[in-house]
Amino acid sequence: MALKFVFTVVGACVFTEIVGYFIHILLHSNKIEFLSKNHMIHHLKVYQPKRGMRSADYLVSTYGRAQVDGVGLEWLGPIALILAAFFGAAYAFGMPLVLQAVFVVAALLWGRFIFGVMHDAMHLESFWMAKNLGVAGRYSIDPTPTPS
Ligand SMILES: [Zn+2]
Ligand SMILES: [Zn+2]
Repeated sequence: MALKFVFTVVGACVFTEIVGYFIHILLHSNKIEFLSKNHMIHHLKVYQPKRGMRSADYLVSTYGRAQVDGVGLEWLGPIALILAAFFGAAYAFGMPLVLQAVFVVAALLWGRFIFGVMHDAMHLESFWMAKNLGVAGRYSIDPTPTPS
């Protein structure tokens, strides 16, 4: 029985990684223009290449826009649709309610940790991983491509 919960939590984390990857691809594809436009505020305005990828404090890119806990609608919309699809599939396959709850809570917590805590920390000058794992400067070098 306990193994079921372990598989559900691990499955939820893997699911979140895959879904997060493809939502990010969607946001860069310009297939749904307003989603991409909102996401590009983060890449091209707030953390624009010439200005560097790190700052003393994390600069939110949802300032003045609808958001929940710093997450913009460009992420929340697709996530809401995927959650609805998940509940539909879980119902169709007869997944027990308690496992559905564990799956969704684990998926959202993992997403909050990786795409929230870790992502935001990566944009800080004091990023612990940069200091401890020798990746300092990796994302803050001049992005001008070298001629080849
Ligand atoms: Zn992006
Ligand atoms: Zn970022």
